[in-house]
Amino acid sequence: MENKDNKTRNTHVLVIPYIAQGHVIPLLELAQCLIKQGMKVTFVNTEVNHKLVMKTWLERDGFGSLMRMVAIPDGMEPFEDRNDFVRSCEAMHEVMPGKLEELIEMVNETDDDKISCVIADTGMPWAIHVAEKLRIQRVIFWSAPAAALSAILSIEKLISDGVIDNDGVPLHENTFQLSPTMPSMRAAEFGWTCMGSIATIKALFKFTLTAVEAVKAAQWRLCNSTIALESATFNMFPNLMPIGPLLASNRLAKQAGHFWTEDMTCLEWLDQQPACSVVYVAFGSFTIFNETQFQELALGLELTNRPFLWVVRPGLTKESCDMYPDGYMDRIGTRGKIVSWAPQQEVLAHPSIACFLSHCGWNSTLEGVSRGVPFLCWPYFADQLLNQTYICDIWMNGLGFEKDENGIIVRDEIAGKVEQLINDREFKTRALDLKEKVMSSIKEDGSSYENFKRFVEWMKKKDG
Ligand code: UDP
Repeated sequence: MENKDNKTRNTHVLVIPYIAQGHVIPLLELAQCLIKQGMKVTFVNTEVNHKLVMKTWLERDGFGSLMRMVAIPDGMEPFEDRNDFVRSCEAMHEVMPGKLEELIEMVNETDDDKISCVIADTGMPWAIHVAEKLRIQRVIFWSAPAAALSAILSIEKLISDGVIDNDGVPLHENTFQLSPTMPSMRAAEFGWTCMGSIATIKALFKFTLTAVEAVKAAQWRLCNSTIALESATFNMFPNLMPIGPLLASNRLAKQAGHFWTEDMTCLEWLDQQPACSVVYVAFGSFTIFNETQFQELALGLELTNRPFLWVVRPGLTKESCDMYPDGYMDRIGTRGKIVSWAPQQEVLAHPSIACFLSHCGWNSTLEGVSRGVPFLCWPYFADQLLNQTYICDIWMNGLGFEKDENGIIVRDEIAGKVEQLINDREFKTRALDLKEKVMSSIKEDGSSYENFKRFVEWMKKKDG
């Protein structure tokens, strides 16, 4: 394609993630894939996240001049709590559409390659309406399991089946299935139901309804998933387009977009461990532990007598950071490596990893599955519970934990499940089988590969 001065033009796409770590990373992976196809990407973070991401944004191979990182305000004061979902959604809905519109108009006045498509995270549904208003292409991106999106798209059915009321409030705790082949879910596992009070549920449900409208208004609905993992959902919802798993290691570059600096020393430590020996423990970007549970986990890892790599993120515990049991560090010595943030995809690809003790966020789930690593599931909320169902009941590449009568996962349970998982070779065998299936979907001719190719062709044609 050429512009009026006969220069080669690039199709220019604007990509906007929701404000959480688990959304910024996969959308940057998608951006890498688009750049690899010769597209230009303007990647829009909120100002707060932009600062975090740029701190860890080393000169990454693979982005080059086709990538522009920009920021717009999120409508909140600097001191406000961005983990207050209702407040942040309200502020973003109010302020960001206008800011995004100004940004697109400004870029299109100055850049020969005009933005011709917006790819919006489902958590930023208003961006789809901005694209509609400006008459550019609009694409929605879903960064959790497609089964969770299918539940959102079935809200009317859930209401008529008595799973939720008209305000989105769960009416019972039983499981339900959207079809006999789909995973069992509970209303309490929806994104809008897991955040606390009834008032919060009702407020978040309203935002969810705006997301449903945006999904309907979008021309493509991309999912970071694959038929190999969620065939029942993709059969039932053929409008959802699996293009995953998006993984940095299979694309151009190192993973980018981290809010914290990755501690690379853990890779050297892993190099010194025997093959298939290490328990990797990580709970994503916003799980919080209380003191009792944190200490039980520490003691459980000690009890395994196995090497472990544990990510203790800043903010993992509400209390002071020195919550380890007395004498803990001396006792574990070099057998345990504790870091504040790991290069997770590289860790999971390391031959010394035996299993992944995970909160089962969808990105972590995809990353572990793609490396053939069996799971120990420790989910907290929302789709993490559904992902546990996938792992334990459907893919059968992992085990869950039982809580005691006080709701705690105790040290013996932790050490016992680690042993059970590692000693039963069937888990590893199934994990490796699943890896093969999943990875073949992103190889040439694989289903996700072909879907992505069709999507890119469509974007280029629309821009022509
Ligand atoms: N992650 C990382 N280093 C860590 C822990 C997590 O790079 O020490 C990355 C992980 O690879 C994944 C993301 O952070 O891409 C977390 O996303 P996920 O959906 O698993 O969980 P969330 O943070 O959304 O709960």
